Amino acid sequence: MGLLSRLFNEKCPQCQKTLETNKSNIYKGIIIKSCPNLHYQKEYHPALELYVESGKVS
Ligand SMILES: [Zn+2]
Repeated sequence: MGLLSRLFNEKCPQCQKTLETNKSNIYKGIIIKSCPNLHYQKEYHPALELYVESGKVS
């Protein structure tokens, strides 16, 4: 629970939809979470404990 459940329950800052993880690349060890409406995307690199955020901000 705790950290992991928070990682997988984040929402788009714009439309509040739950981010989807279906673009994750397990083989590269990257978890990609994105808004279904493409407002926002976040990459998580577990090996590096690093987040890369990107979003279309008006
Ligand atoms: Zn959105």
